[in-house]
Amino acid sequence: MAKRPRPHKLIERHETVRSALRQVLREGPLTARELSARVGISEKEVSGHLEHLARSLKHSGERLRVEPAQCLVCAFVFKERTRLTKPSKCPACRSERVDPPRFVILT
Ligand SMILES: [Zn+2]
Repeated sequence: MAKRPRPHKLIERHETVRSALRQVLREGPLTARELSARVGISEKEVSGHLEHLARSLKHSGERLRVEPAQCLVCAFVFKERTRLTKPSKCPACRSERVDPPRFVILT
């Protein structure tokens, strides 16, 4: 992976957030909302950090497991979804009552 130069403070903050996320994720499974509350970042920021974390974990023999989102109305499971954010609508019944995906680090 190519390293892009970044401002120093930003790197420090990202590293801190990611190592905190890593610790919390070992106690998972947790939703993006729960992760954001524990680590002190916004829910929106969580998926970006998770994607980065999933890639960097491969080198350490751990992996990020995603328990897929599920529709609370018809029980449709979002198995094929690769994005880590919460889907807004169920493709089967159009309900917006979707149980968000949960994340956990497996060692
Ligand atoms: Zn549904």
